[in-house]
Amino acid sequence: MKSNGNSNMRRICPACGSKNVAKIMYGYPIFDDKLSQQLNNKEVKLGGCIIDDYSPKYFCNDCKTNFDTSPSLYIEEIIKIRIRIGGFMHIDTDLEVTKSIDGSIIESVDSNKFLIIDTNIIKWNNFVSDILKCKVLDWKDNYNNPFVLDGIQWDLTLYLNNGKTIEKGGSNDYPPHWNKFRRTLNQYYI
Ligand SMILES: [Zn+2]
Repeated sequence: MKSNGNSNMRRICPACGSKNVAKIMYGYPIFDDKLSQQLNNKEVKLGGCIIDDYSPKYFCNDCKTNFDTSPSLYIEEIIKIRIRIGGFMHIDTDLEVTKSIDGSIIESVDSNKFLIIDTNIIKWNNFVSDILKCKVLDWKDNYNNPFVLDGIQWDLTLYLNNGKTIEKGGSNDYPPHWNKFRRTLNQYYI
């Protein structure tokens, strides 16, 4: 039996695009009939009693990805973003944006376009925040369509201040929020 009017139904997994997602419930739940039904329907998943700022809010029943973590922490941690999109014959985007040591200056390098971004930390934070709003942290690591030869390849690398990187990429296949991501990037070009 399916319940209706559940807000989870409209939630789209940012990794695979599925609408078959469960809300993660933290703490010690009361096991009443409603919760039992929600667990049976996979509308709710139990997340245990430990919750912190990194705890995801949703779980995709199809691709088994946890998603919707708070991006605010990552805004402070990300110090460089590298984005490349293109094919063998044509590089569409080859972009590297770096936060300076004092946190105030952005350097940008792009093969064929010019960024509006200037020497202002607010704009660095805006830029990172806008990128994270495309749910890039929840993307799968790889999107590949093996049935297209050549075509478009892309990769996105987030460099963190602890020396680690978060890498996403694909070949002729894209995450659900890809168009929003492209529109977001375009906002920063003249
Ligand atoms: Zn999914």
